Amino acid sequence: MEKIKMKTPIVEMDGDEMTRILWQYIKDELLLPFIDLNTEYYDLGLVHRNETDDRVTVEAANATQKYGVGVKCATITPNAARVKEYDLKEMYKSPNGTIRAILDGTVFRAPIQVQGIEPCVKNWKKPITIARHAYGDVYKANEMVIPGPGRVELVYTAEDGTESRALVHDFTSAGVVQGQHNLNRSIESFARSCFNYALDTKQDLWFATKDTISKKYDHTFKDIFEEIFADEYEDRFKEAGITYFYTLIDDAVARVMKAEGGFIWACKNYDGDVMSDMISSACGSLAMMTSVLVSPSGVYEYEAAHGTVMRHYYKHLAGEETSTNSVATIFAWTGALRKRGELDDIPELMRFADNLEKACIATIESGKMTKDLALITTMPDPVVLNSLAFIKAVRETMEQIYL
Ligand code: NAP
Ligand code: MG
Repeated sequence: MEKIKMKTPIVEMDGDEMTRILWQYIKDELLLPFIDLNTEYYDLGLVHRNETDDRVTVEAANATQKYGVGVKCATITPNAARVKEYDLKEMYKSPNGTIRAILDGTVFRAPIQVQGIEPCVKNWKKPITIARHAYGDVYKANEMVIPGPGRVELVYTAEDGTESRALVHDFTSAGVVQGQHNLNRSIESFARSCFNYALDTKQDLWFATKDTISKKYDHTFKDIFEEIFADEYEDRFKEAGITYFYTLIDDAVARVMKAEGGFIWACKNYDGDVMSDMISSACGSLAMMTSVLVSPSGVYEYEAAHGTVMRHYYKHLAGEETSTNSVATIFAWTGALRKRGELDDIPELMRFADNLEKACIATIESGKMTKDLALITTMPDPVVLNSLAFIKAVRETMEQIYL
């Protein structure tokens, strides 16, 4: 079979520990035999980040901005222990944080559903994608402990020195207070990322806040979404046969529990933090989630939702067998390949990505899986494979069924 040709490179960001091992297995077994893989390679492994004073992370993000599609392996975010372990020049920031700050945007996470790994919520037949706003609110808040009676006010001082004030509370006893903020610019790019992603994946979009209680703060989110939708997206949504639906956050939670799935749920920062953990744990495993950062300018960066699986790596280094789930990392690659195929009009690349995903699912549904899934499956007598054997089993499925 002739290998599939690519046009524009995918920005490939290699990473750390067990996921770096899986990265190579995936390329060797599942990609290179079938595709004339065209990537621009950046080594974001901690050793190389340290060698380059972390410039490589910025270069990788800039390259992703330039080409439009990147795929990233999980990476270590150093803490004090890692500084010692890797003899680092400094405690570098999270690569994901650095990349997000350059690309700006929204992270979309959705469970990968397979028969035999059933969500706890029986009626969830299709995945629910969480779109989490990644800026501001309680994550950028300032807080004070109020020791006793006194007045707390919000004060805005404009550049010309004029002041406006709002009373928070006349305290008659001790308490606490918190000041949150967000920026219209950030909310607007959040909205556009969500609308674009809904169009891209042809799924309805839900958004919810508590605007009945928070008549200015949350209402601004609601208004910005509504205006951008009416001005820029309403017609395109109609054409695509999808809808935008706004409701209150408590109503959204109640509806989600009764829904079938198959939609995108846009969440403010805190709601997204909490609800994405609820969805992923209800669906079984972080290794069965897709994760993509979509920038407002339409740049896509695909990754796995989990970390570098350190415990397994140290077993691997000790020469012991590991059974690490590579599905999320494989789906990061298929996401990037499909998007590249779409942008460059290479239908066979898109078909390859679809088939590789189907092969992963079919392999698990045939009872062959890694240990994390074997522990939670409803299938009787699953066959537990080691890290490499699972990837080889996926290749076999693909060669038998889809090529
Ligand atoms: P982790 O990699 O998410 O793994 C935590 C535990 O979850 C594992 O020990 C394993 O449980 C299970 N697990 C996660 N992914 C799995 C997979 N693919 N297959 C099977 N089991 C899986 O978190 P960590 O080991 O605590 O963190 C390691 C490093 O990852 C940290 O340095 C952190 O900075 C980094 N991190 C990176 C990213 C990213 O780049 N996106 C995200 C989060 C964390 P068992 O041990 O019980 O088998
Ligand atoms: Mg969380």
